[in-house]
Formats: sequence, C-alpha cells, structure tokens
Amino acid sequence: MKLLLFDIDGTLLVSNGAGRRAMNKSLSSMMGIDTITLKGIDFGGRTDQQIIFDILMANGMSTEEAKDALPDALDAYIAAFTNAFEPHFVTALEGAVELVKTLADYEHIQLALLTGNVEKTAYIKVDAIGLNGYFPFGAFGNDFSERSMLPQLAVDRALEFNGHSYKEKDIVIIGDTKHDILCGKALNVFSVAVSTGHYKSGDLSQYDPDILMDDLSNMDKFIELVV
Ligand SMILES: [Mg+2]
Repeated sequence: MKLLLFDIDGTLLVSNGAGRRAMNKSLSSMMGIDTITLKGIDFGGRTDQQIIFDILMANGMSTEEAKDALPDALDAYIAAFTNAFEPHFVTALEGAVELVKTLADYEHIQLALLTGNVEKTAYIKVDAIGLNGYFPFGAFGNDFSERSMLPQLAVDRALEFNGHSYKEKDIVIIGDTKHDILCGKALNVFSVAVSTGHYKSGDLSQYDPDILMDDLSNMDKFIELVV
C-alpha cells in the first residue's frame, strides 16, 4: 500500500500568476493601498498562510498586526481567487494528468494532495485540468503555516479515509521545490522531485530526494521506481 501525495503548482500544473493576481487584488483592497509590493516574497513551495503573512509585513504591518489580519486576509484571498478564476488560467504540466489517471487504477495506491494552497483553491486548480475526483483528501495551506506539519496530517487523514496506516517509504511526496523534499524528512518518506517548477534539477539534487525527474511524462519510469 502506498500513499502518493502530490504538490500542485509547478508539479501538476502552472497557474500563470492567478494566485498572485488574487493576492494583489484582495490584499491591496484590504490594506487600502493601490498596489501592494510583492517584491522579495518567496512563493515557491510555501503555504498560502506564510506567503500572505509575508506580504502583509512587506506592506507595512507589524508582526502582531499581520497575525491578527491573517484570517481575514486568507478569506479575502480565497474570495478574490474564486471570483476571478477561469479554467484557462491553469495549464497542466507534461504527463501529469495521464500519470494521475493511470495511478488511480492501481488498487494499492491512494492518491491525495499535499500543497501550500488552501483547500478551496487547491481543488479549483486540479479540477481545471480534469482531475476532479482523483484526490479525495489532502493536507493544505490553511491547515498549517509550516509545510513540515502537512505530511503527518495527510497520513492521519489517510487513516481516517481508508483505514490504512502508512509509514516511511510507503508515503511518497511528489513536488517541485526544496520544501517538498524537506517537509517529509522527519517521517522518512520517499520523495520524488520534479524540475518543472522554478527549481532546476541541480538545485533540487542537493536536498537529496529519492528520485529526481525532469517532469512527469516518463510514466514507465515513474511506475517502475515509485510504484
Ligand atoms: Mg510546487
């Protein structure tokens, strides 16, 4: 039995700035400023809570103010994302949809999400590439601020969902950043790094993933090495 936990942005798809635009719109209107700065904000592999917190701070809030404003800011972001979203904003990455659909046919494989996206935007994005119904649960950016908290939560939700207790290398995390690789180290998970996001394979290899792939298009290799 294996639990495969897929990251979304840079792994299954790219959303071509949809998240940034929604953050810009919602947070600038919330803070009463025309254009917020996103300068220096690191988006890759981090949770929406962390990103929004950093944006609030970068635009003049103190730590305390940003903490207090975070729940409302998250709600405003989700509303802005949902209202503006059109399916053509997202593009599936090479091989991702085919791979997920193929893996879904394996009885001993459980698919789920592990992403910094909040649950609502996570499912809007994967639904837009035709993968609605393939990920019955997940661990999301609204669950915890720290990505390193998400693997255990996903494992707990898997136990609730299908009664199986997944351990160590039976847990597979597939993602495109160092954060995806590092978040599962404490549980000794099997990690698959794909260099379809901003990180190149040389950047990812230093974090010691179990496997490094250029993208998800080599289905045979993925199944041989992971499944
Ligand atoms: Mg990613």
